[in-house]
Amino acid sequence: MKVLKFGGTSVGSAENIKKVKEIVQSQNGDVIVVVSALGGITDKILTAANNASTGTGDFHTELKEIKIKHDEVIHSLFNGSGSIKYIVAELLDELEQILTGITLVGELTPKTLDRIAGIGERISSNIVAQFLGADRKDASEFIRTDSNFGKAIVNFKETDKNIQEAFNDFSGIAVVPGFISKNAKGEFTTIGRGGSDYTAAIISAALNVEILEIWTDVNGFMTADPRVISKAYTIPELTYSEAMELSHFGAKVIYPPTILPVFQKGIPILIKNTFEPENPGTRISRT
Ligand code: ASP
Ligand code: MG
Repeated sequence: MKVLKFGGTSVGSAENIKKVKEIVQSQNGDVIVVVSALGGITDKILTAANNASTGTGDFHTELKEIKIKHDEVIHSLFNGSGSIKYIVAELLDELEQILTGITLVGELTPKTLDRIAGIGERISSNIVAQFLGADRKDASEFIRTDSNFGKAIVNFKETDKNIQEAFNDFSGIAVVPGFISKNAKGEFTTIGRGGSDYTAAIISAALNVEILEIWTDVNGFMTADPRVISKAYTIPELTYSEAMELSHFGAKVIYPPTILPVFQKGIPILIKNTFEPENPGTRISRT
């Protein structure tokens, strides 16, 4: 079994989601696909929420952009037909209602923000699951955290047990939203910006899968920032500690907490480029 995580750019347009489908379908064995929100959506949700709570209370510009982006993708992938339209409309309705509530009270708490921050993942996972003809499994049902809204701490004891139960008789392809979780009271929490990588690592470790693949829009870890150093090149192999060090010093390839759960199990991480799948990428392991 493998876990493949696709970031916001990889699921950012209908054309890119078709590439994701090709990559997933070319795998052998069972695959769990973890997805981010469509590129840029989380930022727009957070901006909308902040605008709703302050000043003019005008969140409609962002909300409209969020709607248009999803409409375009759905229209192009499903020809505007099928149940996906209604699922997405319902989630966007939920977003609009909460934004309206924030406007009315003129206040935005971290708890309310987490109630909507993950709507992008709740939508993208439905779109990708339907497009792949796969089951959707909801991370917020099995990733249990404390109530540190915005960057909640995972309760691994409960989470691991929940994941093992949720995937007990799983085979084939499943699609899971990244980033989202719930506390013991059943309230939505999130595990930090960029946290979909972490979701994928938590699932990988709980199920002791053979490999965690992070599919992104670059070829892997590089020797330097290519915008600054023109001769920077992709590093084919790294140890976990080297990857951790590079992440902490600013390499934005993966969300730093991602490495620990898979490191503890010795599960290799492979960084791959959705737009250049033939590139070998960067492999992170013990050696
Ligand atoms: N959508 C979330 C974010 O933008 C999580 C992720 O993409 O990893 O931070
Ligand atoms: Mg990311």
